[in-house]
Amino acid sequence: MIAVVLGAPGSGKGTQSRLLSEKHRLSHVATGDILRSEIAMGTALGRQAEGYVKKGRLVPDELVTAMLAARIEQAPKDDYFLDGFPRNLRQAEELDKLLKRWGGRVDTALFLSLPASEALKRLSARQICAKCGAVYNAITKPTRKPGVCDVCGGAVVARVDDAQETAIQRIAVYEKETTPLLDHYRRRGILREIDAAGEPTQISRALEAALADFWDHRDGDGNGGK
Ligand code: ADP
Ligand code: ZN
Repeated sequence: MIAVVLGAPGSGKGTQSRLLSEKHRLSHVATGDILRSEIAMGTALGRQAEGYVKKGRLVPDELVTAMLAARIEQAPKDDYFLDGFPRNLRQAEELDKLLKRWGGRVDTALFLSLPASEALKRLSARQICAKCGAVYNAITKPTRKPGVCDVCGGAVVARVDDAQETAIQRIAVYEKETTPLLDHYRRRGILREIDAAGEPTQISRALEAALADFWDHRDGDGNGGK
């Protein structure tokens, strides 16, 4: 199964995709996480991507698409949770082409719906572990020890691109570039909308229900229930 997870920055895509993929043993591919690690390691790709990520702009499609293709080609038959890709129509088309090579396709698109004002509020309080990527929130989910990751002991900091100006920019980019994907997947009948305004556990439950709905229907007509 290939599931894409869509939603504004701050909607909880990363947290939820990670939880669900651990629980159901799906491969979690988060393009933002991969880019941040390439940047931290100072690779050629990292150096090319850095300026875009820091400014809250999209990294050029060619770079991100090649990066994703390389990742999927390592294990093309796995079940995937794609978090942060595709982010525009061109990437969605490239993804379709890529999956087709292995006889696959996007089976379901899970959309975490959240008003921009709420997304911005979350980003301003977000903190992440620089080492393992665990996500915290200064207000709703602080670390036990300030600045120290509960999971791995790494340093927990605000993401540079969560600074207010940059966060606003990212949300604008999301609205312009990524929201057209909602119609793209809705037209195929595979979009499932989840209210992302509640508590993380509530959102998890709604996502689980959407996935269960997909799994229940897929064997019948092979098209995710539609
Ligand atoms: P968020 O969804 O909160 O913005 P991500 O970790 O998914 O966080 O992405 C962080 C940044 O990485 C983006 O602002 C962008 O610069 C870059 N990025 C991630 N995925 C893509 C993609 N598919 N295409 C282009 N840029 C991307
Ligand atoms: Zn950690």
